[in-house]
Amino acid sequence: MADDPIADGTLVSINPADGTSPGAVPVTTPAMLDAMAQAADAARRRSSWHLMRPDRRADILHRISAGLQQQKEPLAQLQMRDNGKPITECRGMVDAAAGCFRYYASVCETLETEVTSPRGEHVSITVLEPYGVVAAITPWNSPIQNEAQKAAPALAAGNAVLLKPSEDSPLLAPELARIALEAGLPEGLLQVVQGRGAEIGPPLVDHPLVRMVSFTGGTATGRDIGQRCGKRLVPTALELGGKSPHIVFADADLDHAIAAVASGIFGSGGQSCVAGSRLLVQRDVYDTVVQGVVERARRIRIGAPDESGVEMGPMASFRHRDRVARYVDLARSEGGRILCGGSVPGDARLARGAYYEPTVIEGLDHTARTVREEIFGPVLVAIPFDDEQELTVLANDSDFGLACGIWTRDFKRAWRVARRIDAGSVWINTYKQSIITTPFGGMKDSGIAREKGPQGLRLYAETKSIYFGLHENPLPLSK
Ligand code: NAD
Repeated sequence: MADDPIADGTLVSINPADGTSPGAVPVTTPAMLDAMAQAADAARRRSSWHLMRPDRRADILHRISAGLQQQKEPLAQLQMRDNGKPITECRGMVDAAAGCFRYYASVCETLETEVTSPRGEHVSITVLEPYGVVAAITPWNSPIQNEAQKAAPALAAGNAVLLKPSEDSPLLAPELARIALEAGLPEGLLQVVQGRGAEIGPPLVDHPLVRMVSFTGGTATGRDIGQRCGKRLVPTALELGGKSPHIVFADADLDHAIAAVASGIFGSGGQSCVAGSRLLVQRDVYDTVVQGVVERARRIRIGAPDESGVEMGPMASFRHRDRVARYVDLARSEGGRILCGGSVPGDARLARGAYYEPTVIEGLDHTARTVREEIFGPVLVAIPFDDEQELTVLANDSDFGLACGIWTRDFKRAWRVARRIDAGSVWINTYKQSIITTPFGGMKDSGIAREKGPQGLRLYAETKSIYFGLHENPLPLSK
């Protein structure tokens, strides 16, 4: 099914579970974008948002959190229809979005102003100043959560935000903006830019009033945004793609490791930046682990996102499902053996949706494109290794550096390997834990900067140093 969503100035959301449309939004033109940027800048100046007492700013952020929580079910239902995630995941994402606003309300209220150590008769203080208008650009895989993760800290830091959701999941950002307005956020401080990234993205990033860009999405887009911002000397935070190694040593608790490897790649249909898409298994247990993952993959219940007990819904769009399928065909041509999956499900119930089977591939080496490139779908490549030395080389033989999982009972080895792997997050005997209090981001082609945690707020502010002179004769020349 073709699913180009834009015609006549309207962006139509398409439910990938059945091809129906849950809604549409107007596309933002460059002239509208300019007016929005002017309005955002005027709103932050008029409201003195960044000079408002932090506890009062925090009150509004708390009310946004409460608004999200109160409207959890309709928001979860809308996200499910907008991008096809199972309803239980959608509910969890609304909780995460509400938690994000609650957390940054607390950070905002408790952030200390620093008095730095003196070097004379003055008091020097550093304060954080917002950049002004921030462009926050998000992908389609976890809409409400990704959007909150940018809007909450950017607003907490005192900025106005122009939020640009993906054209494949346009319906949640306007809901967030509405809830924020109802919660008392001054009008104009959070506005939504809609449209195809290739068209409205560059004018947004290049707009003279946009003084900071926070982007989550693919590496190629991030590189383009980084170049544009570099020319304008505008700071960027880039959260990009991954091809994360999930490592199993022979001494691991194999039952837990197998379950985690399967959920690490097949959870969210593999449409997760931290999906553990490269399985590296010590040779002694390679067959046991791969067989265990294959058995789990075959048992995964694929179905409509609102069916109870469904573990994997459709891909987020028909276009993306076709891209995943092309990658699996590429793996075949590269000599990969498909151990399970490898096609769209034959089940007639799923014929109208963008479904794809959980797929495990072996027999590829590290030069294969399917091993090196991000597929962003339910596709796992399995590779054996002999020892820690070889493992480290293989794990780091990637352009990406987002995440890594390590399964072993040997804690000293876990520590050694964790320190040597190029990854922004490492999980030892667990996987895909990502909490708002803990910094998150990537190394190498997986990005620049860290979101979440207290530094997630600092990302959206710059430091200003203020000196109070206390000496009777402040400067030598005034004696
Ligand atoms: P994408 O790069 O195609 O699009 C992301 C966003 O950027 C969308 O809103 C899109 O409209 C916009 N965009 C596209 N071209 C643009 C341009 N030239 N200028 C400005 N904006 C532009 O990515 P996607 O397909 O929506 O999302 C999938 C990617 O996101 C994957 O690579 C995934 O790994 C990554 N991702 C990363 C993280 C992370 O935290 N590291 C989290 C989720 C997803």
